[in-house]
Amino acid sequence: MARKHEGHVVGIDLGTTYSCVAVWLEEKNRVEIIHNDEGNKITPSFVAFTDAQRLVGGAAKDQAAINPQNTVFDAKRLIGRKFSDPVVQKDILLWPFKVIAGVNDKPTISVKYKGQEKLLCAEEISSIVLTNMKEVAEAYLESPVKNAVVTVPAYFNDSQRKATMDAGAIAGLNVVRIINEPTAAAIAYGLDKRSNCDGERNIFVFDLGGGTFDVSLLTIKGDVFEVKATSGNTHLGGEDFDNRMLNYFVKEFNRKNKVDITRNPRALRRLRTSCEKAKRTLSFKLVTAIEIDYLYEDIDFSTSLTRVKFEEINMGLFNECMKIVESCFVDSKMDKGGVHDIVLVGGSSRIPKVQELLRNFFNGKELCKSINPDEAVAYGAAVQAAVLSEGIKDVPNLVLRDVTPLSLGISVHDDRIMNVVVPRNTSVPFKMTNQYLTSKDNQYSALIEVYEGERAKVSDNNMLGFFRLSGLPSVPRGHPLDVCFAIDENGILTVSAEERSTGSKNEITITNDKERLSRVEIEKLIQEAKEYHAEDEKFLRKAKVMNALDDCIYKLRNALKNKNVKLKLSFQKNKKINHAITVAKDLLHEKNQGNEVDVLEDHLKELESMLDHLVIKTV
Ligand code: AMP
Repeated sequence: MARKHEGHVVGIDLGTTYSCVAVWLEEKNRVEIIHNDEGNKITPSFVAFTDAQRLVGGAAKDQAAINPQNTVFDAKRLIGRKFSDPVVQKDILLWPFKVIAGVNDKPTISVKYKGQEKLLCAEEISSIVLTNMKEVAEAYLESPVKNAVVTVPAYFNDSQRKATMDAGAIAGLNVVRIINEPTAAAIAYGLDKRSNCDGERNIFVFDLGGGTFDVSLLTIKGDVFEVKATSGNTHLGGEDFDNRMLNYFVKEFNRKNKVDITRNPRALRRLRTSCEKAKRTLSFKLVTAIEIDYLYEDIDFSTSLTRVKFEEINMGLFNECMKIVESCFVDSKMDKGGVHDIVLVGGSSRIPKVQELLRNFFNGKELCKSINPDEAVAYGAAVQAAVLSEGIKDVPNLVLRDVTPLSLGISVHDDRIMNVVVPRNTSVPFKMTNQYLTSKDNQYSALIEVYEGERAKVSDNNMLGFFRLSGLPSVPRGHPLDVCFAIDENGILTVSAEERSTGSKNEITITNDKERLSRVEIEKLIQEAKEYHAEDEKFLRKAKVMNALDDCIYKLRNALKNKNVKLKLSFQKNKKINHAITVAKDLLHEKNQGNEVDVLEDHLKELESMLDHLVIKTV
């Protein structure tokens, strides 16, 4: 049972380009999307610094063209990432503000504020946006807001989720729950559908926002919303369409005027703003004009863009979206015909070509547009917030389930095999315990290495962290250890190990220092796992036979020490067994790892029959 929180708990969609706050109104028994002081339901996730003040939201975005180096946006693309991350490096090229490497390779934004250099991390920028959302809600509710449910893209890794919670803490908000954006949208949608929803309902959420793209397959059954599969790209959205348009017009300007404006942040900012506006217009018109006075020194820019040309410029990215849609179905093993509703979320899902491609993919099935794509995520977050609020009556009864994107497991022995504890697509939160056996006699400690991935060999997977469990009792090998994997409601992973007889315990929470994989990397790994399936099978077969050989040697040696055996075994037999043990040891030696698996299996059979024979003699 989830812990309840006093006072209003608000739902915040902390978007890459826009943010939105909503709250459940008990008196009206519904969600209210809260207007900001400019009267808008969505607020640009922009923060600007000037000689006199700090600006947030619309006020920051509006002055971006005259103060580009000190106007920060896209903090969500940086949050929880390293400066050296190729995604960050690529983004930096397009941002007018300065980002440098900080302590521990943390990206640090450098701006000029009141005449002095100010360094900020992405969490601080996001916290300023969150503070603004908090204030918007407080003004509307006329009471302090302390708690919030904040949404993140489904594929945000641990460090990105933690960094988002940190941003909330800096803003003075207790983030009571982090939920995935498509799940939030499905809640919003599912609520509307509840009344005519018999049995199971499969919902496909297509969330194309400003900076990220998420697709999710959810099943709603009664009160339970279960995410069956997710896919996407943390670096695909409206801003990428804007960038392509920007590059297109920079070239056009260069061609017409023989001037390259790429080194002029102000001109780029103004052109980018016009591109975004033109893109929106092209969602309902077939052609639009772009007019910018004095774009570069005294040169004006006057041009037009058709919807067809816009689609041509961005077709590669639209196709990329469709590939991801397809991969989600391959993953979930669900037929696209089984989808009841296709839900559009995110401002960029309004683009007609995107809708057309999606409709075609689903063989002409109509897309659901009944929920506002800009507000659906905050709406769902507000419903979840109400569920977690103390004393709200008549709140919908919800149970949310998300899934793990990759299998999680450990390597405990020297065999380097991935021992899967939590299979891919397991619903979270969960707690799963597996038992593992020590591999050496009198083993004092065990090194537990935690991995995520789909390959059989741990070295082909991603290591998340490791820890040592010490203080094991002095006992023969094969002693059991319990290894427990737990992911909480916020998707944060803790792995613990315990030896029961001594009560020795140790654990690790997978934290920022070793980051989990990005969505692109996850997709790549899943693909690789399929490609290398045969190779992995071969590795596993060999690893198993080597383990069995090792085990057989151990048992044979122990059996040879037995008094009865010593008495009953002839000298010749004893010699033969010892020779077989030496051969087996030799086969296991590193220099002989190239042996074919058949050779190992043949020798194993021989050893096993010797062992059977000896076991009979022990009695
Ligand atoms: P979100 O992150 O969901 O707030 O989405 C914001 C993105 O949606 C921005 O890149 C906007 O430019 C884009 N967007 C909003 N409205 C439209 C529209 N009518 N047509 C195309 N893109 C839009």
